[in-house]
This record gives sequence, C-alpha cells and structure tokens, in this order.
Amino acid sequence: MITILSGGTGTPKLIQGIKEIYDPSNLSIIVNTVENDYFSGVYVAADIDTVLYTLSDKINDETWYGIKEDTFITNEKLKDLGCPELLKIGDQDRATKIQKTELMKNHSLSEAVDIQRTKMGITSKILPMSDEHSKITVSTDIGKLEFHDFLIKHQTKPEVLSVDYTKVNSAPNIVETIEKSEKVIIGPSNPITSILPIVNLEGVEKALKNSHVIAISPIIGDAPVSGPAGKFMDALGHEVSSFGVASIYKSFLDTFIIDIEDENKKTKIETLINKVITTNTNMKTINDKKNLAKIVLNE
Ligand code: GDP
Repeated sequence: MITILSGGTGTPKLIQGIKEIYDPSNLSIIVNTVENDYFSGVYVAADIDTVLYTLSDKINDETWYGIKEDTFITNEKLKDLGCPELLKIGDQDRATKIQKTELMKNHSLSEAVDIQRTKMGITSKILPMSDEHSKITVSTDIGKLEFHDFLIKHQTKPEVLSVDYTKVNSAPNIVETIEKSEKVIIGPSNPITSILPIVNLEGVEKALKNSHVIAISPIIGDAPVSGPAGKFMDALGHEVSSFGVASIYKSFLDTFIIDIEDENKKTKIETLINKVITTNTNMKTINDKKNLAKIVLNE
C-alpha cells in the first residue's frame, strides 16, 4: 500500500497520473482539512472533494475545484437573494457538500467521506487528516484575514506577514496508515497550508522519518506553479525555491523530485536530501502526469 499526502491542486494532478498506472485500491490518500469551513449553510472540504472528484473522473481540471460541466443555478439564486456565496459552488458539487453536511450530524468527517467515496465507486482510501475543525488565519498588511477571504475576496494580493492554523488531533488511523505503507508520496502541494498541517499532527513526522518518503517540489524556479505558496513560504522565512521546500522537508525526506529547470540547484539540495531527481514536473497533459507518476512509483 502506498500513502499520498495531498492538498487540492498539485497532488490531485499527480493522482490522475498514478491512478492510470497503479491499482487505486492500494492507495491511501491523506488529505489536508485545515481550509475546511461552512459556506452558505454547507460544510466545504474543498481538498477532500477535489480528491473525490479526481478519483471518480468528475473533477473540473481547469479550475481544480468542483465538478466538470457543472451548472450554477443555485449559486445564481442565492446571490439574487443576497447570500454572499463567497465560494462559487456548482449544483452537482453542492449536492456532495449537502450530503456531507447531513452525514456529519451523525458521523465524523472521516466516516462521511468514506461513505461518499464508496458511493462514488472509489476504491482508494481517502483519509481526512483530522475530524476536528481548524481555522487558518492569514496576517497581512491590511489586517488578519480568514483563509478564504484572503484567497477569494482579496485574490491573495495583500502582503502576508504570517499564517497560523489552530492545532488539531489527527483522525483515526493516520499514523498507522503511514507506518504500514511501503512508501509515502508527498505531492507537489502547498508546503505551508497543505502539507505541514498533516506533518505537524502528533506522531506523523516520526512515522515519516521511519518511512520511505518521496516528495515533488511545488516550486519551479522562484515561483509556485499556481497559488499563494510562494507568499506563505516567504512570510515564514523560507527561500521560495525547490531548495526552500527541501529545507522544510529535510528531516523526513529520502528522495526529492525537482523540475528540470532547477538542475542548477541540485548540488545544493543534495546537501539536505539523500537523493535528488530532476525531470519535467510541470503537469500539463495526461502524459506529463503519467511520466511523473512512473518516476515517483519507481522510487
Ligand atoms: P490547494 O489546496 O489548492 O492550495 O492545492 P495544493 O496545495 O495541492 O497545490 C498547490 C500547489 O501545487 C502550488 O504550490 C503549486 O505550485 C503546485 N502545483 C500545481 N500544479 C503543479 C504542477 O503541475 N507541477 C508542480 N511541480 N507543482 C504544481
């Protein structure tokens, strides 16, 4: 069994490649939950839903959010009624979120996600990192902002001073799943808001140190492929580069995969990580995804 640590954009792209060449029933995917919150009356676990839709071939892989070819009738009606609808949730996607919200009246988030993934015909295990609610706050030059306000309302424009999330306990089986895995893959996700919240759960870093861990850099050159990872890394004093990512993961990482564009950083990164591989990590086509998946799975 292989475990993957995931956020909601970079790692799901890799999962699209992995599931083409590896038996999905042997995958356990531990997904970030610190960005989860209630919007317009429904519980939104965006990264979990993205992984659900990726594994059931429904993902809108232009936005990496929601279901492809979804409609937005409820979103329009809610806006007409004066509901802010900070998130533009599609109708089919909202059905998933309504069901999850209902299930969570009697079940933990982990149980609710397990029911949903089974209904969707997904054989991989999808494990929310925690069943407890966490809150991310981004401190900026215009004040403290809730994560989605920073991301959507302010379009990630304010200068970031720090990023904090409340500490939560891990969901059942997270540490055991890592301990039992033949390898752990850390996809190219935001190190600060997607991966470190998982690594910082009690017992996880120790379990990673005892496992064979392979990571892919989400930073190519001096910028992330998408999203605010660069701003967050910079605010927390990390160099915005694959070297900066390596320095965050160095205590538990065995193999680090960086982009061919960063060949000139390889020697410096080798001072931190045992094995460094350069290849194309910019996943634009299904072949890019499958090629990267092959390299990761061979490690
Ligand atoms: P979020 O939950 O939506 O923030 O998504 P993730 O944390 O999973 O992914 C965001 C990170 O994925 C960003 O730092 C991107 O740089 C990275 N990313 C997205 N697409 C790619 C890609 O094709 N290649 C690489 N190397 N990184 C990517």
